[in-house]
Amino acid sequence: PETITIQELANRMAERAVDVIRLLMKQGEMYKITDVVDADTAQLVAEEMGHTVKRVAESDVEEGLFSEADAAETLRQRPPVVTIMGHVDHGKTSLLDAIRKTNVVAGEAGGITQHIGAYQVTSPSGGKISFIDTPGHAAFTAMRARGAKVTDIVVLVVAADDGVMPQTIEAISHAKAAGVPLIVAINKIDKPSADPQRVRTELLQHDIQVESMGGETLEFEVSALTRQGLDELLEGLALQAEILDLKANADRAAEGTVVEAKLDRGRGPVATVLVQRGTLRTGDIVVAGSEWGRVRALVSDIGEQVKEAGPSVPVEVLGFNGTPEAGDRVAVVENEARAREVTEYRARQKRERLSARTGGATRSLAEMMR
Ligand code: GDP
Ligand code: MG
Repeated sequence: PETITIQELANRMAERAVDVIRLLMKQGEMYKITDVVDADTAQLVAEEMGHTVKRVAESDVEEGLFSEADAAETLRQRPPVVTIMGHVDHGKTSLLDAIRKTNVVAGEAGGITQHIGAYQVTSPSGGKISFIDTPGHAAFTAMRARGAKVTDIVVLVVAADDGVMPQTIEAISHAKAAGVPLIVAINKIDKPSADPQRVRTELLQHDIQVESMGGETLEFEVSALTRQGLDELLEGLALQAEILDLKANADRAAEGTVVEAKLDRGRGPVATVLVQRGTLRTGDIVVAGSEWGRVRALVSDIGEQVKEAGPSVPVEVLGFNGTPEAGDRVAVVENEARAREVTEYRARQKRERLSARTGGATRSLAEMMR
């Protein structure tokens, strides 16, 4: 819900904070100038003090941007989106690399020189699986904090020679909080010191009961080094996806999330976008956070230009006027005017949040009421 500090509210009305507090205290509660009130209370106060209030609600500007559920008959199966988490040095990066390489046929090898924040592979039985290549809990939680739910399944990597460690436990609680199912990859099984049984027992102490111990959580012994068990892991992911029955409507304006973004010297702002619904096409007008642009080119995870990208497909988007942020939600809008309206509103919101945080300069009432 929208809130505002008493100081900020007073600033915007060009009134003294103490007068705002006095008014609020008539309702029988004590306030400090750093306290926040909700938008309804702020409106009451403002009107009480003789100001005219025009609330520009986010829901008005963003209306229709992220539409509600698609009709059941429009839904088709989509690939799962997988994030790899686990303790540092347990092999997240190695595993992602190994999975990707296993899948790249010889001819494509030259194409994957550059890093892309997400990629798609094919499981041995033919199903597609998308991986988000931002191992790290920070990225996961940052995206979640911004309301972006991109991950369908978490692969929890635990090194067989090291066992459950603090970030393993952290990853378990993140996945639980997000309501995302876990699959356990017991990695480094090639090491002589590997003790996978110990990993299973330790996991049990954190409420993760793996299949071989009578539980529900799929577990695979793997080695990113020798690639042992990788096909089985991919099949396990495909199976888990089937259970989750993941679906999306591909036949609508695209929506998705920025997985990562950077300013490229030659190509300008480049955003890796995971499409979540609909189909993104070159020529589309997209907004992401407070940036927008017309899609000039779409580049696949193997560096090829593509004309479109459907649900669960990660793609590099060229054509943004500025660089969006990881976690920004992406939506295709009908025209440039709409894109400007949305992004200018968001940019203003962002500025106001920033200045509220830093104490803020006094703003005119006109500005607030706009
Ligand atoms: P991350 O911090 O979780 O991304 O871990 P890395 O992928 O960077 O791996 C940490 C170290 O473990 C590196 O030296 C890897 O070469 C090594 N490593 C990763 N997977 C395996 C494996 O399956 N077997 C062995 N023996 N070493 C591995
Ligand atoms: Mg790493």
